[in-house]
Parts: sequence; structure tokens; C-alpha cells
Amino acid sequence: MTDIIQLLPDHVANQIAAGEVVQRPASVVKELLENAIDAGADDIKLIIKEAGKTLVQVIDNGKGMSVTDARLSFERHATSKIKSAEDLFQLNTKGFRGEALASIAAIAHVELKTKRPDDELGTAIEIEGSVVKSQEVTVTPTGTSVAVKNLFFNIPARRNFLKSDTVELRHITDEFHRVALAHPSIAFAFYHNGSELFNVPNENYRQRVVHIFGNKTNERLVPVEEDTEVLKISGFVGKPEYSKKTRSEQFFFVNQRFIKSPYLNHAISAAFEGLLKDGYHASYFLNLTVDPKTIDINIHPTKTEIKFDDEHTLYAILRSAVKHSLGQFNIAPVLDFEQQSSFDTPYSYKDKAGKVPTIEVDRSFNPFADEGSSSGSSSSSSSSKSASTTTSFKSAPAANWESLYVGLESKSNTKHDNDVELSFEKEYKTETIFSDASVETSKTTFQLQQKYIVSTLKSGMLIVDQNRAHQRVLYESFLKHITIKEATSQQLLFPLQLSFTPNEMNIISGLKEDLEHTGFVFSNVKEDTITITGVPVGVPESEVSIILEQLISDVENDVPDASFSAADLLAKSMAKSLAIKNGQTLNNTEQEHLVNSLFACKEPNISPANRPTFITMSTDDIEKKFM
Ligand code: ADP
Ligand code: MG
Repeated sequence: MTDIIQLLPDHVANQIAAGEVVQRPASVVKELLENAIDAGADDIKLIIKEAGKTLVQVIDNGKGMSVTDARLSFERHATSKIKSAEDLFQLNTKGFRGEALASIAAIAHVELKTKRPDDELGTAIEIEGSVVKSQEVTVTPTGTSVAVKNLFFNIPARRNFLKSDTVELRHITDEFHRVALAHPSIAFAFYHNGSELFNVPNENYRQRVVHIFGNKTNERLVPVEEDTEVLKISGFVGKPEYSKKTRSEQFFFVNQRFIKSPYLNHAISAAFEGLLKDGYHASYFLNLTVDPKTIDINIHPTKTEIKFDDEHTLYAILRSAVKHSLGQFNIAPVLDFEQQSSFDTPYSYKDKAGKVPTIEVDRSFNPFADEGSSSGSSSSSSSSKSASTTTSFKSAPAANWESLYVGLESKSNTKHDNDVELSFEKEYKTETIFSDASVETSKTTFQLQQKYIVSTLKSGMLIVDQNRAHQRVLYESFLKHITIKEATSQQLLFPLQLSFTPNEMNIISGLKEDLEHTGFVFSNVKEDTITITGVPVGVPESEVSIILEQLISDVENDVPDASFSAADLLAKSMAKSLAIKNGQTLNNTEQEHLVNSLFACKEPNISPANRPTFITMSTDDIEKKFM
């Protein structure tokens, strides 16, 4: 019998380790950026191609490596950062395992160029799947450049497992944000497929936050400063009114390392108690400094969790510091009987010019016509257009309702002939148009709990979910406009300026064309602001920013899959924003119009989110219930 245990060859061991360290291109970005920071660089460039699948390169101006070190850096457990186990408790560097470069080199093509400040010439090394292909002397600037190409070239399963470029780029951007936020005194630039996504100079923390999350962030930040023996806190929380539906602006850094801590997050939520709407999350960008002895970061190479010696104390300090800041900046509700708030002008209004009052005119108003005939006469001009203006449902003045309804009435009547199941019991009387609108003579529908519309059918009863039904109607109408590319827009009297973070701007730019097809008109798209001069007919100006924010959050949250279609997502998102909500009272005409529009849809049965829009109950079913 021979012995069967063997030591794994290095390249196999490296490949296995790589599975832990490198999950996706973003992991490579993190490791390379951290190495550059550990090397003392104050200027770091990140260059990626195809979301890191073909290239991740980091160029720094740090201390560089000697010829021997350059070669050794690719060995496993080769590190200059710790010498003994004790050093683990005094860590001032990001890295210490000496695993990253060895792992990356096991599963990609790596080109390293490095030079120390005092050396004339530098070193270039090429290594593929742990095999050194070349090593030579080279001319290169001081610092280090590591280019990682064709990630997972020798592990096809891993490569195929990668998500779309959009998703991978988002992971990389998240990683970049974390590193850039933790080190405001380092200048960073970030390029993807040749275009610059970020370029931030050496700056203070507030400037860094604003550079990354956009100009509008500035006014939202409330400083938090606290210095105790065990914990130093500095940074910002966002004012409660700017809280977000996502957790995308929550950052804890402990000793300049990004960490996630549900426990400490809870401390912040507790400080914000009573100030946030349901389902909204506070924004925070907080740097915690503690003695490295009191934390244990050595849990897992890629994990962002951390263990603190005394979590309870940190919780209490953090909560009270944030609470204090919120109170100081007068954000928490305070009862102050001495001051009458109406007397002081908010500072931000001091220098603002007065707003020009707008005049609204009801053009269809005819003082000589009686109520009944005025709606009748306007119907002839707009009835032909009514199908294309269904999007104006929500904001259309009540007077136009009848006319909108008239156009569809004929439609639903023709439908009636071949669709027995869902035909309405009562014929619409033509005289309705001429009778006084407020007197509902032929009531075929009614609203239940401001949520459902109930109507009678020949065969029984119909119950429509008003919100889902309207989403369906709007969705099909938007989708049609986007695909046939002819939407009507209404011009805004005053252009609307909205500002967004660079990330959000990216999303909007990607959808710009589709947005234009729904009727948006953008006159100016700059780095972080867009000017809107026209909106789709029927979209109230006040809803525009809500629609766009909803859209951004939808794109951010619905991880787009292969069947992702921008047009579809846009139509869905806009339908969601603009649809009649539950709790909204609808008059009879509105109810009927909604039901008719729903059944004029291609797929009336389901909402854009695939939920049923209505249910029916046959007389037989009802009779059975009475048995
Ligand atoms: P670790 O960072 O855990 O030490 P790595 O595999 O990431 O392990 O790097 C190995 C070693 O290579 C580092 O300890 C450092 O000495 C050297 N090194 C890596 N990247 C750089 C860089 N950008 N500049 C200078 N030295 C570097
Ligand atoms: Mg490292």
C-alpha cells in the first residue's frame, strides 16, 4: 500500500484560493485599489473595459517594487505588510494576507509594471495562469501599474457565470465609491471603455461626498462629529426629508475600511426614529476611528463584516452623536414657544427672486353655453384624439372627462357585439352626453373603498382594481408611444432643472431616447443637471422628478436580466408613477372611462407587473353563495 496524500501544486492551490478572493471583476478592482493605497499613492487611476471582463487596470504613483519584490508579489502568502501574528492587531494597511496578486494571476493574464522613486528603470512582468511568461527591465513612471486581462480565461464556468455588463459595472462602481469615499485625500480617476466616469482631486470629505453623489447632496448633509476615548466619529448624515427608498447611500468606514454592520445601522435608524417615512432609509457617510486592537477584521478575505470588542458602547455613542446632530441642525421636531416661526424668513429664501405667478385659463369654458351642451360641443373636437390622450387621465380637468369617454364609448359598443362575457348590461344612452354631468342618470359603475370599481355584466359582476387597471392602460399607451416614436409633448412654461448624481445621470442618459419618445424634451444634459422643457401630455410638472426618481430606483433595483428592455422598463415605471392610486376618489365618468380603457387594452387581464387587474363573478356563482 502506498501513501495517497500529496501537497497540491502551487498553481492549483492558487486557483482554489482565487475562488475565495475573486468572485467577479469588482473583486479585482477592490484588491488592486487597496494595494495602490497601501503603497502610499496619492493619485490612482482605474481603467476598465467591458465592465472588467476584458480589462481591469490600476495605475498608482506609490512606492513601487524592487525587481525581486515584483516577482515575489505573485507568490502566495507573500506580503510586505505583516511579519508576525502580533502585527495583525496593529494593522494600518488594507492588505495583509498576501493572497490577492497570487490568486488573480492564477485565473487571468496579468501585466505588472513597477518602479521605485530612486530607481532609473523599472520591472515588467507578464504572468498567465500562474506561469511567468516574461520578466524584463523597462522604462516606466514611478509607481505601479497592474493590468488584469481576460479574467477567468481558464475557468469557463466562472466566466459564464458573470452577469451583464450593466450589473458588473454597477458592482465595480460600488467598490470604487467605497474606496474613493474612504480616502478623500487621494485623487482618483475612473474610465470605462474609454470614457471618464469619475475624476476627483485631493479634497475634503464633504467635497468627496458631493463629487460622488452629485451637487444636490451638499445641502442635504448634516455634519456629525464626536470624539470619545473609544470611538471617534466624523462625517455626515442626510437630512430626513431626503431619505431614500434604497440603502444605496449608507456608508460606514472603520479605520478607512468600508464595512457593513446591521447592528450599527440600527443605531442610526434609532437616532432617526420618528423622522423617516415608512420604507425610507436614512443616508449616512460616517467614518469611525477605533484602536485597531479593538477590532477583528480577519473574518474572510472578501467579507465586509467586522467584529468589535465593545459593540454596545459604540452603538450608544453613535446613536447619541447622530441624534445630537439632527437636533442641532433643527431637524428633529422641537417645540419652541418663544419664537413664532412665521416671522423669520428661511435663510435659503433670502436671496431668491419672487416667483412669477402663473395664470391658468380654461380654454374650453364658454359662458354662453349651458353646462350640458358645452361638454357636448367640446366632444366633437377631441373625441377623435381621445385614444391617444388616455395618459392624461389623472390630471385632465373634470370637464373633459365626458369627451374622452365619448370616443371610447363607440369602441366598447362594438366590442360588446363579439364579447358577450364582458359586455355591460346597460347600453350607454346617447343622451348622457347632453344631460347635466352632475346628475348621474345611467350609473353603471360604483367605487368600492376608493380602491375597486364594481360594475354589472350581463352574466354577473365585474370588480376592477383601479390602480392596476390604470397601470395597464398607461403602460400600453407609453409602450406604444415609445415604439412608434410619436408622442405628443406639452411644453413647459418654465424649463425644469433637475440635478442627479453621476450614477443617476448615467441611467438617465441611457434611457434618454426612450424618454423622448414618451414625450419628454430635454434641452440640456450636463454633468449633473438636466433641463426639461417638455413633458408627455398629461404628466403634471410636479410629478416629473418623482417619475424620474422612481425610474432610477427601478433600474437600480430590478437587476436587469437578458430580456431586459429599456422601453418596457420605462413604460412600466412611468405607469407605476402616474397611475391612479388606491384611495383616490373617482367620479362616475372617470370610473366608466377607466373600465372602458382597460378593456380596449391588448392584455386587459393583467397589470404590467403580471397581477390580475379584475375579477368577475357570474350570477351562477352568486346564486351558489345564497344556497
Ligand atoms: P497583500 O496586499 O495582502 O500584502 P497582495 O497579493 O495584494 O497581498 O500583494 C502582495 C505584495 O505585493 C504586497 O504586500 C506589496 O508588498 C506588493 N504590492 C502589491 N501591489 C503593489 C503596489 N501597487 N505598489 C507597491 N507594492 C505592491
Ligand atoms: Mg493586497
